[in-house]
Amino acid sequence: MSIVEIRGLVKDYGKVHAVRGIDLDVEPGEVVGFLGPNGAGKSTTIRCLLDLIRPTAGTLRLFGADTRKHGVAARQKVAYVPAELRLPPRATAGELLDVLARLRGDCDAARRADVTARLGLDPTKPAKGLSTGNRRKVALVGAFMSRAELLVLDEPTSGLDPLLQQVFRDLVGEAKGRGTAVLLSSHSLAEVQRTADRAVVLRSGQVVARGTVDELRGTAAQRVEAVFGAAAPDLSAVPGLTDLRRDGRRVHARFTGPPEPLLTALAAVRPLSVEIAEPDLEDAFRTLYEEQPS
Ligand code: ADP
Repeated sequence: MSIVEIRGLVKDYGKVHAVRGIDLDVEPGEVVGFLGPNGAGKSTTIRCLLDLIRPTAGTLRLFGADTRKHGVAARQKVAYVPAELRLPPRATAGELLDVLARLRGDCDAARRADVTARLGLDPTKPAKGLSTGNRRKVALVGAFMSRAELLVLDEPTSGLDPLLQQVFRDLVGEAKGRGTAVLLSSHSLAEVQRTADRAVVLRSGQVVARGTVDELRGTAAQRVEAVFGAAAPDLSAVPGLTDLRRDGRRVHARFTGPPEPLLTALAAVRPLSVEIAEPDLEDAFRTLYEEQPS
């Protein structure tokens, strides 16, 4: 049974078509990156999944249960870090976590102390004066101290000190190690690339790509640079080479597809050196957007 199963989700806010028919699955123990620029529809999808807002069309299941009809029990197995946090101003961070721990009833006190210390959260501070980053830390401690079977994290590191992003990645890895599934929404490719098993890329309310991080990377153009002993040869006939630029004894280009034609062509013209940079998800994302302009 999938932990999350979304089929044909559509959500309109009046005339705004925020989500236009998306499918999304999260399997047990899997970390799924939910990627897309701001306004792509990530929060809307998550809020429909947690039944905080009503979908226009589509079916949503959490732990096999229809979220509209039988969602209450399923939602108890979920810990959610929303993109925008409102905390009651008078309580301290520690008091809020006490309330959350009582409400949830599934929290691990040792883990709470550990995550609080690692994120550098001062639990005695009143919520009122907390910065965005510190409010987010409260929510992250709340999620990671729980024994939830699914963590739904909506832009969890926005506002966090970059040094803490490594701590966050470690926490996701440890949760995965305990068998927890994670749906991680982010506009940061670097974050998803380092933590997720799979990614679903959303754009303007539609899925434009999905696959393992390696598969998405495979769709990206690699950067190629070759240096020759004399004037660089013309490589424009090589299939898969684009953005070709000749600069004296150097050739720069981008390359997609299987490498064999490129390697064969290069072997024939005997370069002094060749450098092929492995694409990262950032490049994959760019390629995807270039191919599908809005
Ligand atoms: P993301 O989480 O990817 O940044 P959102 O789901 O927040 O995207 O937003 C998707 C689209 O829906 C955007 O165009 C946004 O402006 C719009 N939107 C989000 N919430 C509302 C709302 N309550 N009313 C009207 N439009 C909304």
